[in-house]
Amino acid sequence: MNVANQKIDLPLLDEKGISLFVKREDTIHPLISGNKYRKLKYNIQEAKKKSVSTLLTFGGAYSNHIAATACAGKEQELKTIGVIRGEELVGKWRANPTLKLAKEHGMRFHFVSRENYRKKEAPEFLKALKKKFGDFYLIPEGGTNELAVKGCKEILNAKDVNFDIICSCVGTGGTLAGLINAARPNQTVLGFPALKGDFLKNDIRKFAQNENWELISDYHFGGYAKFTAELVNFVSDFKVQTEIPLEPIYTGKLFYGLLDLISKDYFKKGTKILAIHSGGLQGISGMNIVLKEKNLPQLK
Ligand SMILES: *Cc1c(COP(=O)(O)O)cnc(C)c1O
Repeated sequence: MNVANQKIDLPLLDEKGISLFVKREDTIHPLISGNKYRKLKYNIQEAKKKSVSTLLTFGGAYSNHIAATACAGKEQELKTIGVIRGEELVGKWRANPTLKLAKEHGMRFHFVSRENYRKKEAPEFLKALKKKFGDFYLIPEGGTNELAVKGCKEILNAKDVNFDIICSCVGTGGTLAGLINAARPNQTVLGFPALKGDFLKNDIRKFAQNENWELISDYHFGGYAKFTAELVNFVSDFKVQTEIPLEPIYTGKLFYGLLDLISKDYFKKGTKILAIHSGGLQGISGMNIVLKEKNLPQLK
């Protein structure tokens, strides 16, 4: 599936002589958006090939991956189980838009304490899950594995060969690895981590077959799911200027960072940049609840 590349018109880009296009992966599907669709595609095929009728995966309360797995499972007639971080959510998940959406699409939840959640990939923990739920096809937290990277490779297509730079947000790095594997030797792939962590480079190297990539680690805004009023305002302004919706966990950090680099002459005049909009918009309503609690402006 190929989605459109949308040209961005902003005075800054004219001034600096940079051309910027956005690949609208957020438009792939209203609920299974962006990179999560790509990551699930071959995993779902594999589960079916193995005749396993249940997908089990992990995530936090606002996880795009949890929402996407629930919705994709429903479409593909597979049962889904979400192992969710935070026992305190047991009686409260209905107030959480992401979990409510997942439940409406048939996901069964298993809430675990933060301590147990950290042990989620341990053999004893998985054995206990099999005992409780029966056989399942395991998809890791964030959805990243070999088959997910294969799916993300398909984000780029033959029409994208003329870009000099390909940019994407980084969570686990699976999406970036797919882009790296799809990029031509004359293209550079830039990843903008949404979290702090020196481990990311090694994680990406596990799946990446080329060397033409770099991480830009200055725009995580303090870490995963951390953000400032400035970032929230940027996300709102960007939508007014370009009609492209972003959110402050992933794509807001990417575009903030990218435009900041452009303003600082990081790229030479004439550079053609393709930024991947990896989706995640289902998270906006949950985010607005968090913003309200912090007395920060609402996302529109
Ligand atoms: C999950 C997610 C990411 C992170 O993707 P990784 O492959 O884990 O690096 C980026 N953007 C959005 C919108 C996401 O939901």
